[in-house]
Amino acid sequence: MAGNADVIVVGAGLSGLVAATEIAEAGKRVIVVDQEGEQSLGGQAFWSFGGLFLVDSPEQRRLGIKDSYELALQDWMGSAGFDRDEDLWPRRSAEAYLGFAAGEKRGWLRAMGHRIFPVVGWAERGGYDAMGHGNSVPRFHVSWGTGPGIVEPFERRARQAQASGRLTFKFRHRVDALIMTNGAVEGIAGSILEPDGVERGKSSSRKVTGEFTLRAQAVIIAAGGIGGNHDLVRQNWPKRLGNAPKKMISGVPEHVDGRMIGIAQAAGGRLINRDRMWHYVEGIRNWSPIWPRHGIRILPGPSSMWFDATGKRLAAPLFPGSDTLGQLQYIMNTGYDYSWFVLTQSIIKKEFALSGSEQNPDLTGKSWLMTARRATNKGAPGPVEAFKTHGLDFIVRDNLADLVTAMNKLSGDDLLKLEHVTAQIEARDREIDNPYVKDAQVMNIHNARRYVGDRLIRTAKPHRILDPAHGPLIAVKLNILTRKTLGGFETDLDGRMFGTDGKLISGLYAVGEAAGFGGGGMHGYRSLEGTFLGGCLFSGRNAGRASAKAVA
Ligand SMILES: Cc1cc2nc3c(=O)[nH]c(=O)nc-3n(C[C@H](O)[C@H](O)[C@H](O)COP(=O)(O)OP(=O)(O)OC[C@H]3O[C@@H](n4cnc5c(N)ncnc54)[C@H](O)[C@@H]3O)c2cc1C
Repeated sequence: MAGNADVIVVGAGLSGLVAATEIAEAGKRVIVVDQEGEQSLGGQAFWSFGGLFLVDSPEQRRLGIKDSYELALQDWMGSAGFDRDEDLWPRRSAEAYLGFAAGEKRGWLRAMGHRIFPVVGWAERGGYDAMGHGNSVPRFHVSWGTGPGIVEPFERRARQAQASGRLTFKFRHRVDALIMTNGAVEGIAGSILEPDGVERGKSSSRKVTGEFTLRAQAVIIAAGGIGGNHDLVRQNWPKRLGNAPKKMISGVPEHVDGRMIGIAQAAGGRLINRDRMWHYVEGIRNWSPIWPRHGIRILPGPSSMWFDATGKRLAAPLFPGSDTLGQLQYIMNTGYDYSWFVLTQSIIKKEFALSGSEQNPDLTGKSWLMTARRATNKGAPGPVEAFKTHGLDFIVRDNLADLVTAMNKLSGDDLLKLEHVTAQIEARDREIDNPYVKDAQVMNIHNARRYVGDRLIRTAKPHRILDPAHGPLIAVKLNILTRKTLGGFETDLDGRMFGTDGKLISGLYAVGEAAGFGGGGMHGYRSLEGTFLGGCLFSGRNAGRASAKAVA
């Protein structure tokens, strides 16, 4: 069949780049279209922290962490909580992905020059029982070079394929429809947007200057999720998480608009688990924003005290870094869409990391010298100190009375009572002198410090919050920050998309966030973190290889 290419990929984010490079390297011709300009190549992955979920890696072993496929499977299933008929392909995708994360993933990336920062992070620690949510052990491997470090090998491969004539990029091409004939996909149609030299990540013009159609035997949807579109997030918000927040900030650029999801649905694709999403509760407004409503997620260590809007401490096990959706559910049920961290200078210095490549110039710039300062510096990393000084959500005071007054002023709700907050902090502080204690959060801190990685760069030495030697005191107002879409188009393990009639749609594929990172939602309800980039790699690779094989 004559066409403009063998395969068309919609979206030049990580999942699209991975699929396209596999297709080109299998000797087929591929066109990659993206609504953004060339400067945005790599999509969200460029902005990411580059954290990758790996199981039983050499990095883990060097730190004494004993991990296995079985332990990871137990953690995954405990977090996913698959409980629906449509979880068939999500569950199969999860099992296959875990095999990849425990097997080929690291070596495959390494052969392309990808490298990993040696201290493995411990995200989503859970706190329930062994079969409940969370990572039993640290598994969050940060790419050396963060987000750009994971995009780089695929961009390089794509540029090589482009030079050989197998891969063609068409930027500023926005897809508005899929061309379907007798239930099979034949191509795409859309609008050509005016050139716009706007900086990466900033919103670009949507002015249409022309139209296009492109034909191919297969089309891969790699168009991302819905996190930049708050209307869609609210529409899909599940009752189990309380009411949708009135106010949210955005953890993703505006191009994560969810528009392509509606277009593929209109062509007959079966969207499942759309009520499953992964939004954070530790969002802070970026004082130097790149995209609209730009928020940054704090990746917190375990020691900050966490209070809801009314000043009540969050109950065990909802400590920083334990259970993102458990915290979201709790917070939304308070009737307010914000909460507070209260901490000390000693805690911020060691425990605050900010997710995002631009917030980690040491790791992103691959500077060992700057990175080593994380362990030795007197202050927090530069970007964290900058937030402390300029961030709208940060309050720094020498005493608790002044801190609480400023917190009430910032929220405008006047809900915090000094005696209530003081009593809870003093009670927690009395638990600090013994290593065997009643307070579950303090227990957690001792547990964390038994892991060398946490002791080195992630968990402050236990101390009293009200000890002036560890001051000043800091309060951070935490907002709900939109990020990931866990549901998506139902696909098989080759990324082939199912239609609403339960049959595969000939020639149509979905990968990355658009496919719920594989199968239509391989995370189920909850993620173990670092699984999104990994899901883009795995689903992109599978669909790229399968589509290249399928086209004549
Ligand atoms: C700040 C930040 C930190 C993160 N940190 C991590 C981390 O440490 N670990 C982890 O695993 N994950 C992380 N993530 C998540 C991860 O980066 C994303 O989920 C992943 O990169 C999504 O890739 P994608 O290819 O599916 O979609 P995207 O990157 O969203 O790419 C989709 C592309 O499709 C284009 N597109 C959309 N619609 C159309 C259309 N109609 N026509 C043409 N083009 C279209 C878009 O312009 C975009 O370029 C982070 C994300 C952010 C933003």
